[in-house]
Amino acid sequence: MEFDTWWLLALPLFFALGWLAARVDIKQLLTESRNLPRSYFRGLNFLLNEQPDKAIEAFIEVVKVEKETVELHFALGNLFRRRGELERAIRMHQNILDREDLAPEQRLMAVHELGQDYLKSGLLDRAEELFSRLIGTTWEQRGLKYLLEIYEQEKDWAKAIEASRKMDAITGDSSAKDIAHFYCELAAGDLAHQRYDDARRYIDEALTVNRKCTRANMILGDLHAARGEFAAAVDAWKRVEGQSPAYLSLLADRFLNAFRKLDSESQGIALLRGYLERYPSLDLLNAVFQAVLESEGTASAQALLREELRRNPTLIGLSRLIEIQIAEAPADRRHDLELTRSLIEQHSRGLSLYRCDSCGFRARQFYWHCPACHGWETYVPRRAEERELAA
Ligand SMILES: [Zn+2]
Repeated sequence: MEFDTWWLLALPLFFALGWLAARVDIKQLLTESRNLPRSYFRGLNFLLNEQPDKAIEAFIEVVKVEKETVELHFALGNLFRRRGELERAIRMHQNILDREDLAPEQRLMAVHELGQDYLKSGLLDRAEELFSRLIGTTWEQRGLKYLLEIYEQEKDWAKAIEASRKMDAITGDSSAKDIAHFYCELAAGDLAHQRYDDARRYIDEALTVNRKCTRANMILGDLHAARGEFAAAVDAWKRVEGQSPAYLSLLADRFLNAFRKLDSESQGIALLRGYLERYPSLDLLNAVFQAVLESEGTASAQALLREELRRNPTLIGLSRLIEIQIAEAPADRRHDLELTRSLIEQHSRGLSLYRCDSCGFRARQFYWHCPACHGWETYVPRRAEERELAA
């Protein structure tokens, strides 16, 4: 008992000692830092990230005394930005930029930091103007990275293409896949406004940059379909098979609609059944199933599902099969079937999503441009369940 009490009394003392030690440390740190080289402050910047509030307090005190320390202004500006205090970050970095005694490298760094402050504030014009100042300098690559981000946000695809090409020239890497998507964005924009010739030019550019660009052939088919040229549309979409067959599932509804316009729905269903056989896909199965159900009736649709389930047993496919059986089942069996189906659905909920290969973000909808990591074509149009089975 006495032992316990002793500890209780000693506890505040330990806290006080710890606090005192920390204070002494910071004070000593600040005194010493006045004579330390700039790399010290950079290290300090990283070190103190864990406790931004205390770091800022300490830094502000030093800045009051040491007005000349540019590095400290940088460190403080970055801390403000990370904490979301963007106005203070902008003021801090602008102050650095206004100094006349600044070394050229420090000036570029200040432009780079201030650009990030404005970018984070959503003031894209200001950010673009600042990052553009880095073009032709040793900081060009860093500037281009942010410029590209800004152009994508602004959907200024022509500038995005230009920036990507400049970036490739510096790094020696290839952004061909991304550039093809920028051309596709331009093509899709023109197509939406019935500027067919311009759209066609951009589609050709996309395929020149990246002949594997499935999206370009998809938009080419859309262009033909918009003009009422359904046979040509089907031909364009069929080319996706030679590029990347997994993407055919995205085209299932387009194929069916075009074949309906051509008065040969059965031909469309046969084409898709052929694809399904060669490239099993849940999305494709879903589309073919719906089409067969509507045009040939329940028995054919059930037969299709059973056959597909034998080849590729999936929970999502099974759920579909039970769903169709519920409608036809006698009342006393319906309850059991519904219970089974809801159980399967609970277990397969996460399995019906697409997943970004780059960041793992899951989405019900397919994206060419990941909303989470902003990578281009980072989703394979296959549901999680198929991918898990294939792994
Ligand atoms: Zn992603």
